[in-house]
Amino acid sequence: MLDADFFRRWMTATAMSVDREAERLTALDSPIGDADHGSNLQRGFTAVAAALEKEAPATPGAVLILAGRQLISTVGGASGPLYGTLLRRTGKALGDDGEVSEGQLAEALRAGVDAVMALGGAAPGDKTMIDALVPAVDALDAGFGAARAAAEEGALATTPLQARKGRASYLGERSIGHQDPGATSSALLIAGLCEAEEA
Ligand code: ADP
Ligand code: MG
Ligand code: MG
Repeated sequence: MLDADFFRRWMTATAMSVDREAERLTALDSPIGDADHGSNLQRGFTAVAAALEKEAPATPGAVLILAGRQLISTVGGASGPLYGTLLRRTGKALGDDGEVSEGQLAEALRAGVDAVMALGGAAPGDKTMIDALVPAVDALDAGFGAARAAAEEGALATTPLQARKGRASYLGERSIGHQDPGATSSALLIAGLCEAEEA
């Protein structure tokens, strides 16, 4: 079973990897965006880590709802509301339980990813964070390691795609040949599950 502490570790592990990879995320957002994805998420997850330290929510759902709220209020870019919705909706789906199973988490994350698709209108293959998140959720029944591998593979597989959503879509065919920054950061988020489990 996964308790609130596991979810706090997930968020702080993600904050640390976003910090570590911020320059790379921004560099990926340079040819097909406005070179701010790393700094956007760094600002957001720094606020998440600070809020979790201050408030220490008692349930898994409350941890993710607080994290999502921080992302929405601190990240200016498209990714803020999208990641914020992902975490808030996943948190809501977890309800008030003090501990949740991996199966409950998989189901809740599915609801979160569905909410991101509803908000942003992106489907798999549109070269967005969805291309890492959907395969990760599909693989989650096989464990966190399988989900991480699927997310990383999904992020790499965005390179030959033409963007159909977000800023990169303005480039049309010129978006082809570049890895999507949001799919790359989504793989970091999913990898955070493994780090929280190992801790
Ligand atoms: P902005 O484009 O506003 O500068 P960011 O650079 O922080 O925002 O985030 C860009 C990432 O957000 C993209 O790489 C893509 O993965 C994701 N994204 C953008 N629009 C959408 C959308 N409509 N649906 C899903 N993901 C999206
Ligand atoms: Mg950007
Ligand atoms: Mg921007």
